[in-house]
Amino acid sequence: MSKWDISKIKEWGWQEHPIGSVIPEAATTDGYATGGWRSIRPILNLDKCVHCFICFIFCPDTSIVIDGEKMAGFNLQHCKGCGICAEVCPPKAIHMMNEAEALGLEKCLLPEEKPKEEKSA
Ligand code: SF4
Ligand code: SF4
Repeated sequence: MSKWDISKIKEWGWQEHPIGSVIPEAATTDGYATGGWRSIRPILNLDKCVHCFICFIFCPDTSIVIDGEKMAGFNLQHCKGCGICAEVCPPKAIHMMNEAEALGLEKCLLPEEKPKEEKSA
C-alpha cells in the first residue's frame, strides 16, 4: 500500500491507519503560544467583575489569570479568542474586541474591500 493510497479505506481495520501524531510527554501545550491564532480578544471590565471564576471554569485554554482571590485578566500568549468567557460571564464583565483594533492596527481588507485607486489622466 502506497502512503497516499486510501482507495480501500472503508475496508481498513485499525492496523492500517497510520500514526497521526505522538505526544511525547504531558503538558506540552504550555510551550505553544496559541494566542497568535486570535482575531478577537477578551477585554475585562473590572468594575463589573464579581470574581466568581465562572470564566476560569469554562475557558478551554486555561487563559484566565487569577491573583489571589481575584480575576486579574487573561493570558494572551495562550488565549485563542473563542469568546466563551464573555458568553458565560454572569454580569457581562467581558467583551470581545477586534484584535487589530486592540493593537491599534488597520484591519486587513480583502482586495474587493480596498478603496479603489484613482487613475491619473
Ligand atoms: S465570569 Fe465574569 S464576573 Fe466571574 S470572574 Fe470571570 S469576568 Fe469576573
Ligand atoms: S476568549 Fe476563550 S481562550 Fe480566551 S480567555 Fe476567553 S474563554 Fe479563554
